[in-house]
Amino acid sequence: MKIRNLQQKQDIRNLTYEELVQYLEGIGEKSFRATQVFEWIYKKGAWGFEDMKNLSKELQDRLAQDFELKPNTIAQKLVAEDTTTKFLFDLYDHEKIESVLIPTATRTTACISSQAGCKFGCKFCASGIGGWSRNLTCAEIVTQVLHVKEEALKHKRPLSNIVMMGTGENFDNYENLLKALRIINSDKGINIGARHITISTVGVIPGIQQLAKEDFQVELAISLHGYDNPSRNVLMPVNRKYPFDELIAACREYSKTTKRQITFEYILIKDVTCTENAVQALKKAFKGIICKMNLIPYNPVSEFDHKTPSGKEMMAFRDSLEDAGIHATIRTPRGRDVGAACGQLRHSAQV
Ligand code: SAH
Repeated sequence: MKIRNLQQKQDIRNLTYEELVQYLEGIGEKSFRATQVFEWIYKKGAWGFEDMKNLSKELQDRLAQDFELKPNTIAQKLVAEDTTTKFLFDLYDHEKIESVLIPTATRTTACISSQAGCKFGCKFCASGIGGWSRNLTCAEIVTQVLHVKEEALKHKRPLSNIVMMGTGENFDNYENLLKALRIINSDKGINIGARHITISTVGVIPGIQQLAKEDFQVELAISLHGYDNPSRNVLMPVNRKYPFDELIAACREYSKTTKRQITFEYILIKDVTCTENAVQALKKAFKGIICKMNLIPYNPVSEFDHKTPSGKEMMAFRDSLEDAGIHATIRTPRGRDVGAACGQLRHSAQV
């Protein structure tokens, strides 16, 4: 049985800037103190109220009495040869979550989780194997970014991008996700531009529709992985609830409303999704849709039997899509030597 050391105090990173102003005014402080507190947490990397040197000792003590502000316990930290750095965090209730720092030539990206575990059971992904435990709070989402940012700065690489592509379905935790992303995006907070933040989804249509109504220019990525209804049913059980055709229709609508291009993630599995048949079906389904297709070579997970196609096969697939007018690129795998793909670390810590 897990020993649950339940958190008593509210984590201050669950508060938006406006909520913090409200709290501070409520205890008789000036509102500019909220800017100072936000600066300490999100810009100067403070992990405790006692570090907030421009606050009175009295206010530091009051904040410490009312709120939590701790770093996560790091259960594992693995650095790959390409300097991709993978964290496994042990949360207060001993749930484990993963976050990854991915430095490339042009950007420094944090890959962040929104849930402990995943309910969706995609038939190629390690994240779903151990099942789902709970949603992460806003603070738990934001704190992952703070750790990855700190690590990035050690390499003199300011964080430039956030991809919500760790464990879990983002739209299953919509409110906490949006709140966290607003803090991450805010110039008072971590100050990552909305265009540099990507939300990935298995295709939860109501979430896509809700996001279209937000005044928030974040990027949307859809885990497509099938080329029609039957093929997607096999790989992604969620397709029975939100079928391929309805998903594509919702994406068309999203692009029309927001005037933004969607990225489709498409896994390349030998003889399954990387076939001529698939190219023809995608060509038909994506007629008239302006989008980016991100082709992801299958990263082997021992629980599944799939094979990764050869480089030649994958390039031929990409070229056929391009010939069909679908803009496609092959994603370079990062951090494979530390099992950095898709829930592998969390999963191996559980077994
Ligand atoms: N939970 C999010 C992000 C997952 S990781 C989502 O499902 O959209 C980012 C992408 O990698 C997703 O498209 C996911 O489906 C894909 N993926 C998962 N397991 C993979 C594997 N073994 N090999 C290649 N891509 C994988």
